[in-house]
Amino acid sequence: MSKIIASAAIRGAHEIVKRVEKKVNDAIKQYGADKAVAYPNTAYFLPIIYGNLGIKIEKLGDMPAIVERCKALLPDVPTENMWLPYLGPTLDAGMATLFAYDIEEALKYIDPDKCPYLPAGTEYIDPESSNIWLGAADDVIMRKRGVEFVDGSAPGFAAIVGAAPDNATAVKIAKELQEKYLYVFMAADHNGKNMAEQLKEEGVQLGWDTRLVPFGKDVSAAIHAVGFATRASMSFGGAKPGDYKKVLRYNKNRIFAFVLAFGKVTDEWYAAAAGAINYGFPTIADSDIPEILPTGICTYEHVVSNIPHDRIVAKAIEVRGLKIVIKKVDVPVSYGPAFEGERINKEQMRLELGGPKSVGFEFCESKDLSEIEDNKITIVGKDIDELPEGGLTPISIWVEVAGRKFQKEFEPIIERQFHHLLNEAEGVLHIGQRDILWMRLSKKSFDAGFRLKHLGQILHDKLHQDFGAIIDKAQVTIYTEMDKVKELLEKAKKVWHERDTRLAGMRDEDVDTYYSCTLCQSFAPSHVCVITPERPGLCGAYNMLDCKASFEINPTGPNQPIPKGEVIDIVKGRWKNTDEFIYSKSGQTIEYASAYSIMDAPMTSCGCFEAIAAFLPQCNAVMVVDRDYTGDTPCGMRFSTLAGTVGGGLQTPGFVGISKLFIASKKFISAEGSILRLAWLPKALKEFLAEQIKKRAQEVNVPDLYDKIATEENCTTEEELYEFMQKVGHPALEMEPLM
Ligand code: SF4
Ligand code: ZN
Repeated sequence: MSKIIASAAIRGAHEIVKRVEKKVNDAIKQYGADKAVAYPNTAYFLPIIYGNLGIKIEKLGDMPAIVERCKALLPDVPTENMWLPYLGPTLDAGMATLFAYDIEEALKYIDPDKCPYLPAGTEYIDPESSNIWLGAADDVIMRKRGVEFVDGSAPGFAAIVGAAPDNATAVKIAKELQEKYLYVFMAADHNGKNMAEQLKEEGVQLGWDTRLVPFGKDVSAAIHAVGFATRASMSFGGAKPGDYKKVLRYNKNRIFAFVLAFGKVTDEWYAAAAGAINYGFPTIADSDIPEILPTGICTYEHVVSNIPHDRIVAKAIEVRGLKIVIKKVDVPVSYGPAFEGERINKEQMRLELGGPKSVGFEFCESKDLSEIEDNKITIVGKDIDELPEGGLTPISIWVEVAGRKFQKEFEPIIERQFHHLLNEAEGVLHIGQRDILWMRLSKKSFDAGFRLKHLGQILHDKLHQDFGAIIDKAQVTIYTEMDKVKELLEKAKKVWHERDTRLAGMRDEDVDTYYSCTLCQSFAPSHVCVITPERPGLCGAYNMLDCKASFEINPTGPNQPIPKGEVIDIVKGRWKNTDEFIYSKSGQTIEYASAYSIMDAPMTSCGCFEAIAAFLPQCNAVMVVDRDYTGDTPCGMRFSTLAGTVGGGLQTPGFVGISKLFIASKKFISAEGSILRLAWLPKALKEFLAEQIKKRAQEVNVPDLYDKIATEENCTTEEELYEFMQKVGHPALEMEPLM
């Protein structure tokens, strides 16, 4: 290994640790050693320190001990003539850098008025905002995005430090990374510029939604990429805090990340690169810096330099050993999940389709193979170029599919894919489904040659790619004439109604077979969802018909039929075969689970629950909090902390992960009295479910139950909730004690 790079990295680490030591001492002088310090909304403290050392930093006074550890890790700076044949000392300097940076960034949060970052939990960066820096991701974002790293919808991330030589190159590289499904984490400046600023100048949308994430302008902000990865290893990889071997190994094997260094590589950058190598993340530089080629920690090379910009993404992917299967879609714009979260405002918009001021819907219908012609795309009515700029048109997207194995039951599942399939095209915004469809097409996509036929093209190409097992032919007709759209809408509405009544009328008692979902075992190995007609999967994405269809599409997949067998306990929701299935599929970890109980062996929770129900002993009641509500709750924990407690594929009596819609199901904790136990919901969720809750209230003979359920506007502690319940006469107070 080159001694030049060793010296630079070690020299850099010395500078960083010295600077951080001073900052810690100054902060203690100013605020006192007892001053609390934390990243916002996380259960992982300062994650790199917590993950690798198992130490919780909770106040300033906890920091000096870590600074001492950094110093102990620092090797002497090699002298001019010293030869360092091993990577060891450089790696130690790298770890010291990561710990020191973790502290340096956390210090930025001490005084909220001086914090340079946007509010915690920000995912979307307003293009008008002058501040684009996101800082540390909170646990909500980490879970939501981390799952994508686990299920493969994002293979990893590129941590970019510095700036490209010009804006056009920055845009090109960002797009290339987005098209490869990678997240792009940006920090540090080169000549006063960071790549995120270059992208912003070119009107590229930044934020978690587009996977282009500006962490901060200091190089220390690059630590948030490593912090994210460290938390992912604990949350999804089962690494225990302090088990640094597992933390590092998980990242090396599971998170395909690498560093792209754009511009002059300073000693500090070297030191940070050395830190990244510990995680198995190599650095690829555009400048001429000494390389570290032999393999050791990283899968292949460690530092590769002097790579031209048009080859740097390909090179990074090769060096990191990443295999990406890009499925091509024949359209003139970029296509991939990174574009799914893109927004299009009025100024950027060429055409609006459907939405509240017009009519728009999409529909999938199955046909006989002989009735349709594959890849036939027809436009009935005006196309984009025949409509005025900024104009509005009604739209109907009518998709006909056929396949030897296609069944009518698959129609709604296929129809539900249109949203993300169309949204993944750059310059296409798709909101809603069925007849609340609302779309926008951007000027940029129009200029690139995008026309209505390309919407059909996307659907045709993707349906073949993703559902080739059941779809042999797909034909798309797009209507933009109001009369025709309205006429077809009536036809579609009848079919939707039939579909709804099919599942709505179905009770658990009516079927002999339930379905499993084990999709989340990739990160929560003992987790099994048992999905019944009245109990959808806790992620809210799978109901019983989805599972049934999915089983038929992929018979060896994660959704298997479970003939329920003998009843063991009908009140708690236990059957002989579901018990056995759970026991065997949880790797003999979970003996049995009750579908309808929160107290006795509730269902396991993975991590993607839409909401969590929690028992409140003092109130003899239950609260539910969903992912979108980040404030305090009566159980004393916010959603993010609760999620850390409940998730991971375990059973936690008193807590259970659920889908939002399950709250209004007759089977929602029916062993404990169902909706009558419900005492608290976040306001937004309560309003979202208003109609269904009121309907359930009638069924349980407490017609004013809706008003007896508190929200954060009434209280956020258990004591206050108890008072509230007494005041309104909540039925749970009169019910049998649960403890
Ligand atoms: Fe499947 Fe359950 Fe995971 Fe949803 S939460 S994907 S239903 S295992
Ligand atoms: Zn899950």
